[in-house]
Amino acid sequence: MNKIAFAIAVLLFLNRGVFGQSSNSYGLEILTSLEEYRQTVALDSNKRFVRIVDYLPNVIMDIKYAGKENVFYTQLYPREIAICRLPVAKALAEVQKELNEQNLGLKIYDGYRPYSITVKMFEILPDTVYMGLPWQGSKHNRGIALDLTLVDLETGQELKMPTPFDALVYASHPEFMKLPEVAIRNRELLKGTMKKHGFTVDPVEWWHYNYIDNRVYELLDISIDELEKSILKN
Ligand SMILES: [Zn+2]
Repeated sequence: MNKIAFAIAVLLFLNRGVFGQSSNSYGLEILTSLEEYRQTVALDSNKRFVRIVDYLPNVIMDIKYAGKENVFYTQLYPREIAICRLPVAKALAEVQKELNEQNLGLKIYDGYRPYSITVKMFEILPDTVYMGLPWQGSKHNRGIALDLTLVDLETGQELKMPTPFDALVYASHPEFMKLPEVAIRNRELLKGTMKKHGFTVDPVEWWHYNYIDNRVYELLDISIDELEKSILKN
């Protein structure tokens, strides 16, 4: 072993010693307690979680994993609630405002998702193209990803899109073009409006958007209930 390789080996060993205890079996750093989460919020208040309904008063909620009618045929959340980080909710409120002016609005399928739910989903459906990967963690686990669609503001009806939510097919890819014109128009309207306010669409799911800013939002494995209680206390 030359000197450089030896130095790297020592550094890797020390790194394990310092950070190893809070990593999971994939080597991911995941916050698992409200106390750890609160420490990150104390350093940057923009990391706090908020309820989407508090920022988008007329948003429609259809949290697919709070029931059994989803791609996993399993209820994964205790009830219909969607939370996300503060800057995500603020940006989404701007999207909603712009859509409301066109007599349209947003319907939310999912927001923050605890890491252990991502692991469970992968156990049920081990697909490496469409599923959040346990060895990476999902942006849903960071509270900066949203699954959503457009609705008619008056009727609450979903606008025609390329596929239903969680259809694991090529037609779900946001660049797929062999579709009815109206589906492409609606998808592009959603894409364009979201992009204007800081969101990027997932490369294989037209309904999934990530909010990217210059912060590193930690992966969390804290239940939605627990996080919501901490929101309501503030
Ligand atoms: Zn998603």
